[in-house]
Amino acid sequence: MTANDMEHPRAVADGAHWLGGCLSANAQGHEVHYHVSTYLVVGVKAAILVDTGDPAHLATVLAQLDEALGGRRLDYIFPTHPEIPHAGNLPALLERYPEATVVGDVRDYFMHYPEHADRFSPRGAGDRIDLGGREFMFFPAHIRDLSNTLWGYDSGSGMLFVSDGFSFIHDIPQPDGEDEPAHLPGQCRSLSSEMPHPPTVEQAAYGTGRALYWTKFVEVSTAFGNIERLLAEHPTRWICPAHGNVIDDVEGMLKTSLAAHRKVFEERS
Ligand SMILES: [Zn+2]
Ligand SMILES: [Zn+2]
Repeated sequence: MTANDMEHPRAVADGAHWLGGCLSANAQGHEVHYHVSTYLVVGVKAAILVDTGDPAHLATVLAQLDEALGGRRLDYIFPTHPEIPHAGNLPALLERYPEATVVGDVRDYFMHYPEHADRFSPRGAGDRIDLGGREFMFFPAHIRDLSNTLWGYDSGSGMLFVSDGFSFIHDIPQPDGEDEPAHLPGQCRSLSSEMPHPPTVEQAAYGTGRALYWTKFVEVSTAFGNIERLLAEHPTRWICPAHGNVIDDVEGMLKTSLAAHRKVFEERS
């Protein structure tokens, strides 16, 4: 296995795995990828999966879970919000892991999955789950695209799971009309510091302004103040987005991201 092989999970830290697949598109004759990532945190007592991945990657995600779980059971599934790339594999995962409980802001899930209504266990910002030797915490999503999005945090690894936040495009061609952060084949499991170049403010602003359209209309200093406080209270070594490379240069990317949000807001038309 290599660090860039998207077929396999990458153990970013002890008991913390990066899983999921990539969607590919054609950009001016070149193949580019978009992440639809999921993360698995394994404690002494329990394991939790953050986001379910896209149904297009179901077979990949199930095989990766087999590999990362190594025969132990999956206890919790935490979709950060009820959109297809984040929650679409729930029915298949609930079938495969009959002991798993779905946690998070699950207020409307019974309507999507009435047959699984007894397996939803609401958790809100501030709640914690003891995984054994590490805690999983639920945080408000300071950058989000749905009102019931939540972020998560693993105290064992210092990973912060930010759902649709902190997705960056990198220095590669973008397909026309696409608004998703892209990377090249071979960069699927690269940490931000392993990419050839960190994204510029312009690239971060491009992804930010199109994928999270509301950021054109909202001054984000308050959100970033909240994020900085959260990072100060909960030491964060990795920022883990659903649609971008895992960020290991937390300080630098925070500055780039804030500058990008400011640019989007100031240059709105
Ligand atoms: Zn998403
Ligand atoms: Zn990829």
